[in-house]
Amino acid sequence: MTNYENLAGRTAVVTGAASGIGAATARVLASNGARVALLARRLDRITELAEKINADGGQAIAVAADVTSDSSIAAAVSAVHAAFGRVDLLVNNAGVMLPRPVTEGNFAEWQRMVDTNFLGLLRVTQAFNDDLTADGPADLVNISSVGAHMTFPEYDVYVATKAAVTHLSNNLRATYGPLGVRVTNIEPGMVATELVDHVREEGKAFLDEYVASMQPMSADELADIVAYTTSRPPNVNLRQIMALPTSQY
Ligand code: NDP
Repeated sequence: MTNYENLAGRTAVVTGAASGIGAATARVLASNGARVALLARRLDRITELAEKINADGGQAIAVAADVTSDSSIAAAVSAVHAAFGRVDLLVNNAGVMLPRPVTEGNFAEWQRMVDTNFLGLLRVTQAFNDDLTADGPADLVNISSVGAHMTFPEYDVYVATKAAVTHLSNNLRATYGPLGVRVTNIEPGMVATELVDHVREEGKAFLDEYVASMQPMSADELADIVAYTTSRPPNVNLRQIMALPTSQY
């Protein structure tokens, strides 16, 4: 594994750290010397991961948090501050993907995706705004998707939330860049994670075929990209990264 020395001494928050890209990102940041707060709803999962990181010589805490809830995020901010103080690296990774033909409109699913993928990301960013903009360089990393640029029937609303994240990230740079906060938008292609487990039965066949047509990246490979971008010299901002499996087109 590559060593990213610049991450030592950083204080990171990773949302959606219970599985997949978020869990892998928490692991790689911690193994490079960052203190890491793991946020997700499944406390058992993040507690287990935090214990493993600490047993391996890293520093991690598990904080149960729902990015769709103001009060939950406010409590999480307090818990992170009590344990680690100022946060200088935020990875907005929590997300859900619930595909369905838009003609079968399911408002609850649309709302859940918008609330988690877009408004949740804004909520957490705002909650850590004062940390990020306090003295010294900081990183804001948003996990969008290549879907932000695709026409993808049945995934209409999911890819729309990701297009919103990509567009928001580009604009956040204008505000945060001059304040010393590096904003990085990462758009992964297919990554082997639990994201697909929430897809309803009728949508599974298409997805299985799509995934079988390529060799998905691993969550660790994506996490390595997060570690790479956040360990560049503070004045170097890889603002937009589209990372695809070689065989995905
Ligand atoms: P996972 O399903 O493994 O991870 C999603 C994480 O988000 C889980 O840890 C989940 O934890 C957390 N989460 C979901 N809802 C909430 C919520 N309301 N509050 C807090 N945490 C929440 O999938 P991935 O690792 O693949 O997904 C990570 C990100 O990567 C997502 O934003 C996804 O859209 C994006 N992405 C993934 C791709 C892929 O191919 N896998 C491709 C492109 C982008 P818990 O349920 O415990 O809260």
